[in-house]
Amino acid sequence: VLQVKNIEKHFGATRVLEDISFELEQGQALAIIGSSGSGKTTLLRCLNFLETPDQGQILVQDKVLFDAADPSTQRESEIRKKRLHFGMVFQSFNLFPQYTALENVTLASQLLARERPDFKEKKKEIYAQIEKDGRELLGRMGLADRAGHYPHQLSGGQQQRVAIARALALKPDILCFDEPTSALDPELTGEVLKVIRSLAEQKTTMIIVTHEMAFARDVADQVIFMDGGVIVEQGPARQVIEHPAQERTRQFLARYA
Ligand code: ATP
Repeated sequence: VLQVKNIEKHFGATRVLEDISFELEQGQALAIIGSSGSGKTTLLRCLNFLETPDQGQILVQDKVLFDAADPSTQRESEIRKKRLHFGMVFQSFNLFPQYTALENVTLASQLLARERPDFKEKKKEIYAQIEKDGRELLGRMGLADRAGHYPHQLSGGQQQRVAIARALALKPDILCFDEPTSALDPELTGEVLKVIRSLAEQKTTMIIVTHEMAFARDVADQVIFMDGGVIVEQGPARQVIEHPAQERTRQFLARYA
């Protein structure tokens, strides 16, 4: 479903990503591991068009969404639509504080619905359906009874689960997580990992940047280890984490043992 080809990204004279290539199949989960500063966040930001790579291509469903060599794939006006292929869950939840959990989940769908040709005549039904879907998503996250709560009334783990529901609401092809549990206390980490694990069981296509090695091994199909802006090693999760082929991967994993 996703093909990333030879992505390269500089900030000024610093090369942050170098020749990044990988593929992700429908229904698979990919974990990206690596030390701080290795370029993981920048890679996710490139996939979401928050950064523009200097080289390379990004394809979704065999369609070229981005090609550094083809300016027609970089039009500002089309970026918003392209972003819909990717759902984003950030480290720091980023919920809208003035909206309830349900409103956080439904807001983007409501805004998008306005662009439907039948919006005016069917507004009530469309909004009712969006609300029903939003409640169902919150239910899947174990938050059915929190729909009317505001972010400050929720624990960090609950907020992150609302953020996951919000990302799923737009039915992205690929759901991306950037260290989804690193802002959480250990006792709240488990509830978020459990939700991501169940998404993996339901064959949600995902990219997860994480420092939770046991979680990556158990939940991801593939693992990529990045260091210094390059992919040092990629392969089946269990193989990379339990039997890494590269010395740099071994050294990195030894810190988590
Ligand atoms: P972390 O685990 O700490 O989030 P990371 O692996 O996600 O690290 P990135 O955040 O992608 O790493 O950063 C990769 C490198 O790019 C770092 O050296 C960082 O300082 C640099 N960098 C990131 N964003 C910018 C920017 N906007 N301008 C300049 N340098 C940047």
